[in-house]
Amino acid sequence: MGRLLTKEEWIKRNKLKNRLMSISAFVLFAVIIVSTGIFVKTLIESSNTNIASDEVVIQTLSNGIQVKVDFLSPNPYSRPQTELKKVNGIVIHYVGNPSTTAMNNRNYFESLAKKKTTSASSHFVIGLEGEVIQCIPLTEIAYASNERNADTISIECCHPDDMGKFNEATYDSLVSLVAKLCVEYDLKEDEVIRHYDVTGKKCPLYYVDHEDAWIQLKADIFDEIELVKEELENAVDATAE
Ligand SMILES: [Zn+2]
Repeated sequence: MGRLLTKEEWIKRNKLKNRLMSISAFVLFAVIIVSTGIFVKTLIESSNTNIASDEVVIQTLSNGIQVKVDFLSPNPYSRPQTELKKVNGIVIHYVGNPSTTAMNNRNYFESLAKKKTTSASSHFVIGLEGEVIQCIPLTEIAYASNERNADTISIECCHPDDMGKFNEATYDSLVSLVAKLCVEYDLKEDEVIRHYDVTGKKCPLYYVDHEDAWIQLKADIFDEIELVKEELENAVDATAE
């Protein structure tokens, strides 16, 4: 057993104890404050990477396909972040690279940021299973349609072979996506065009080589527009009741 403490020693020890306790309370308090700060910061950052609702105009297509939003990183070669001030049309393209997927093409656009030699991109890419990826917000221009980049939305479509004809799944998603965009932006029949109509480039190949197939595609789009409008009217009626 140690010797008994003198009164002074006892007071000194108590003072030290109290000081140590207040220091640890302060440290604990500081840790709580800092971790709360980090937590709040992470929360804010994660909500910032979520897409603001005004940037995603179309979420679900009439064939049940969900538009996957996977924006390119801002860069001068595929996402220059130039404002798309007004939408006066929709330009349809084919990817020109048979049997690639929508994600392959999206990642190709992304890779241009590092290659720094080619400029290309598209607002949407539609894949062979009808999957749709949005690469660029509709408030920004894409690099797809030459002099019409400034006032159009671009859609690239995948295709199984060199003929460039879209398969049924791709075609259905295209028709639904274009119809919804036409209703959203109040676009008329002659405002849905091919890349060919801008520059004379054979894009989308099959629908340049086969004018009848292009006429049919447009007819299918405009039938779909009527359905989208009817659905909207019914939805308005239902909420009014
Ligand atoms: Zn094109």
